[in-house]
Amino acid sequence: MVSFWERKSFLTYDIIIVGAGITGLSAAASLKEKAPNLSVLVLERGTLPTGASTKNAGFACFGSISELAQDLKALGESGMVNLVSRRWKGLQKTSNRLGPDRIDLQQKGGYELLTANNAHYLHDLSTLNDLLKPIFPSPVFADHTSQLDTFGFKNTKHLIFNPFEGQLDTGKLMKSLWQYCQQLGVQVLTGTEVSAIQPEKQGVSITTPTLTFHARAAGICTNAFTNKLLQPSVDITPGRGMVMLVKPKKTLPFEGTFHYDEGYFYFRDFHGKLIFGGGRNLALAEEQTEIFGLNPRIEQKLLEDLNEIILPNSAYEVEMKWSGIMAFGPTKNPLIEALGDHRYLAARLGGMGVALGSLAGDDLADLILQGSF
Ligand SMILES: Cc1cc2nc3c(=O)[nH]c(=O)nc-3n(C[C@H](O)[C@H](O)[C@H](O)COP(=O)(O)OP(=O)(O)OC[C@H]3O[C@@H](n4cnc5c(N)ncnc54)[C@H](O)[C@@H]3O)c2cc1C
Repeated sequence: MVSFWERKSFLTYDIIIVGAGITGLSAAASLKEKAPNLSVLVLERGTLPTGASTKNAGFACFGSISELAQDLKALGESGMVNLVSRRWKGLQKTSNRLGPDRIDLQQKGGYELLTANNAHYLHDLSTLNDLLKPIFPSPVFADHTSQLDTFGFKNTKHLIFNPFEGQLDTGKLMKSLWQYCQQLGVQVLTGTEVSAIQPEKQGVSITTPTLTFHARAAGICTNAFTNKLLQPSVDITPGRGMVMLVKPKKTLPFEGTFHYDEGYFYFRDFHGKLIFGGGRNLALAEEQTEIFGLNPRIEQKLLEDLNEIILPNSAYEVEMKWSGIMAFGPTKNPLIEALGDHRYLAARLGGMGVALGSLAGDDLADLILQGSF
């Protein structure tokens, strides 16, 4: 039974954001930056954010050469350039908002390993560099195959370098963003799963197992889990990604971020260790799941690649393994839209949300402020 005081001070807000991933927290931060007098609550089902934002590998990236060549085919020139620009601006927004040191952002550059089978991506280098000229102060991609011996990679023909790619500490990013929201006066309640969002007289009612909240508008930032909340459903397919933390016995001969197999596999250094993940393409149908877990087939392939490509003839120990759930759709563009009845959506950030999350949140904040206030 709810008291008058609880209803007035704890259950009624101007705006409620559902989901405390990078998109939801970024939206909450943008709302308070733009409209400090509005009350903003974030409801998160997990004790910690439980989707992709605390589970990724901490790449501050906007696309490897093969990924952008594929995007060029799928989205056309302006679509590809626009997506790169948003990823780049999103990373800068997060860095400026929180401070590069607080998120351990390091601009060590990124590389793509190309085998003989995908060496044809070298032909895209000058086209992509030309198209990306308006965004970056110097050419993005360069052939650094000469570094292959130093790095010690096997079964690799070419190495493409991108000096603008970086890496960050995912845990620090999410913790800092959370703290920043709290400094701005955003309230965050965890362990609070929303089961329904319904229209009511002056906004929405938001149902959770124990309490019903009220707001003038709701922002839905539940990414892969969105369709549990929406009727009719939106076009979102979950995609599970696996990551492992590897401790090499010897000093790593490389630093930076690395992709191969058209971006499906990725690894980076982290204070002398290796963070390695991917392989979803080996079992695309099986990995279209919202259930956290590890696929033994993918794990086996990651271990094989550690031995045969990344750390050949070197001993290592796998210290941790985990998974995260991403959200995909028929195009790479996220869904950011007003759904009607004072409900607004920012979801489906694919494998780009570290970069895009702050802008997606900012766009959502604008939609809410324009549509409901
Ligand atoms: C392994 C892996 C590697 C990745 N690599 C990269 C990369 O290199 N570069 C990049 O830019 N991005 C990468 N990503 C993607 C990036 O992490 C995501 O796009 C981004 O985190 C999505 O953020 P989000 O806030 O939209 O969603 P999420 O982080 O999934 O947040 C959604 C939140 O909503 C909560 N929620 C769901 N339903 C409810 C409900 N009913 N009630 C209350 N709360 C609810 C969830 O618990 C969750 O915390 C990677 C992701 C993974 C998993």
